[in-house]
Amino acid sequence: MRLLLVEDDALLGDGLRAGLALGGYSVDWVRDGESAHLALLAGEYCACVLDLGLPGRDGLSLLREMRTRGKRTPVLILTARDTVQDRINGLDTGADDYLLKPVDLNELQARLRALLRRAGGEAAPLLAAGELTLDPSARRVALSGQPIALSAREYALLHDLLSHKGRIRSRQELETSLYAWGEEVESNTVEVYIHHLRKKIGSDMIATVRGLGYVMGETA
Ligand code: CA
Repeated sequence: MRLLLVEDDALLGDGLRAGLALGGYSVDWVRDGESAHLALLAGEYCACVLDLGLPGRDGLSLLREMRTRGKRTPVLILTARDTVQDRINGLDTGADDYLLKPVDLNELQARLRALLRRAGGEAAPLLAAGELTLDPSARRVALSGQPIALSAREYALLHDLLSHKGRIRSRQELETSLYAWGEEVESNTVEVYIHHLRKKIGSDMIATVRGLGYVMGETA
């Protein structure tokens, strides 16, 4: 799940990126309005965490333009602007949620989960293959009802494969889903995470399609 973080404060941005990555998101972090504009044009994001006071271009104008273009990426405004009128402006401009700084990371994560559920139109459906289930709203994975502990990357990889059940996912598609821009990716990194996943969920759940990638499904 790829997330765009727009925050010009270096310290806060760094903390948010690290915290959100622990929550299983691959985070692209940009620090000014123009970069955010370009990222939103180029990338597909499950959500955007948007600061308002930004160098170059204000977050609200960015949001307005994005909605005018019909881009529906869920946006959570995270700002120090705390008047009622600020919140009204933010929501009326097209934000899906509005949080004030300083932010509690756990609340931010919960708000994002709620926002992603709503973006899905209803409660996020349980993903499943055979005896394996993944509950996106609770970030829980279970095999035959028994909970399985996964690292953030393992979870993200499994979420991607289950979301595309029965379809082949190339190594490059999986890398894109797992890593943010500019993040160092070792050449065999997807293979390593697949290996870890197979050890935890059973080796026959994910099939290797030679030369093409990986596929998950009951028949795999
Ligand atoms: Ca700012």
